[in-house]
Amino acid sequence: MNITLDDKIKPAYREVLNRNPGETEFHQAVLEVLESLGPVLVKHPEFADHRIIERICEPERQIIFRVPWMDDQNNVQINRGFRVEFNSALGPYKGGLRFHPSVYLGIIKFLGFEQIFKNALTGLPIGGAKGGSDFDPKGKSDNEIMRFCQSFITELYRHIGEHTDVPAGDIGVGGREIGYMFGQYKRITNRWEAGVLTGKGLDWGGSLVRKEATGYGAAFFVDEMLKVRNNSLEGKKCVVSGSGNVAIYTIEKIHQLGGKVVACSDSGGFVYHEQGIDVELLQQVKEVERRRIKDYAPHYPESKYIAKGNIWEIPCDVAIPCATQNEINGRDATMLIKNGCVAVGEGANMPTTPEGVRVFLDAGIAYGPGKATNAGGVSTSALEMQQNACRDSWDFEYTEQRLQQIMRKIHKLCYETAEQYGSPNNYVRGANIAGFTRVAKAMVAFGLI
Ligand code: NDP
Repeated sequence: MNITLDDKIKPAYREVLNRNPGETEFHQAVLEVLESLGPVLVKHPEFADHRIIERICEPERQIIFRVPWMDDQNNVQINRGFRVEFNSALGPYKGGLRFHPSVYLGIIKFLGFEQIFKNALTGLPIGGAKGGSDFDPKGKSDNEIMRFCQSFITELYRHIGEHTDVPAGDIGVGGREIGYMFGQYKRITNRWEAGVLTGKGLDWGGSLVRKEATGYGAAFFVDEMLKVRNNSLEGKKCVVSGSGNVAIYTIEKIHQLGGKVVACSDSGGFVYHEQGIDVELLQQVKEVERRRIKDYAPHYPESKYIAKGNIWEIPCDVAIPCATQNEINGRDATMLIKNGCVAVGEGANMPTTPEGVRVFLDAGIAYGPGKATNAGGVSTSALEMQQNACRDSWDFEYTEQRLQQIMRKIHKLCYETAEQYGSPNNYVRGANIAGFTRVAKAMVAFGLI
């Protein structure tokens, strides 16, 4: 890979490689941010004097722990749990928990690192963290999920709290899992502390729109990127990968904004439905019945399920990856551009490889990186914390309005920062520089801690 790092920043990146061997996703996420920061050090030499880049790349605290639990056959199972509390300059650590067999320290660190800058972009008082486990929730019974979550929080509870660290969901962690973890936290601490977790159920401290927020926010962000190009989602043919929380609500909002999503996927394959994905059916299959995307197709004879197919081969105007990291490579990106794609918004975290990002930037399309495009989820988590702090609950319309305002502000900040630094339309630069600068200023103000 071609590394285009400023000479002043190269040693910091080398140090990250040496200190964190084998953590390739973390290296990728760090490099992507550092590549944007050369001009920031020219404008703010104090950041170099205070070694802010070196400090920001080292997590404030990393916790790795054993999670023993009993399966339904009474066999003892052991998983590994993680929480990386990366940076608390702007507020309590905040970021989701991921339960997926691919989880290891390098994945949690890449996600935690991205989260610092994403949370800074929201303008809300939240630091950056991420956690999770290599536990695979697929095929587990409700009781197994409950026992795992209880064991996980029995260790993690001592590290979290409404003013310290506030986890939420991510891949494999939704409302059910947050419920089991909140219940166990309440039991162990003897405290009904709503602000300790977000993504809670609506009857016990959750916020309306939190479930929808990441997907709705991604659709709003893409619409904003198109608007500055005198375009919009209206009438656009869209492809959304994944069929989990982020994908479902991205599809719902795109349809409300006049676009049409013709395909979505899971790790088994994708479904193509030319007339437009039926969101209610998708919710029934994935959220209620917890089945696979192939179970969608039999409901519509005109739709098709393609096992192991590449969803990015479908011609579309707008692509929104909402599954996982590195799901669009250079070849996929080239194909999307060749097929006429004019906008890409990342609902997932780091779904495009560095080669893919290069293709999108060189083609000059509207490309929204995850740390800006998918910031609606954590923003609404912060709104959930606000409601918890004043023991209030807002209605759907008001909360969605707040979300939309926040997404507009993030878009404007990234857009204007990119222009200010001489890279118009480059949302990667804009997001990295704006997010980093906010955290760096706070770190300078705090002295050496
Ligand atoms: P879910 O668990 O609800 O859904 C994940 C979806 O992605 C599923 O359809 C899953 O398919 C698919 N998927 C996961 N891993 C892979 C893989 N290795 N290969 C192919 N498909 C895969 O997670 P979310 O919707 O919450 O998260 C999706 C993405 O959005 C992640 O990158 C996450 O970090 C990011 N994100 C989520 C936020 C949130 O609020 N939930 C906030 C910001 C970002 P299968 O079931 O077959 O595994």
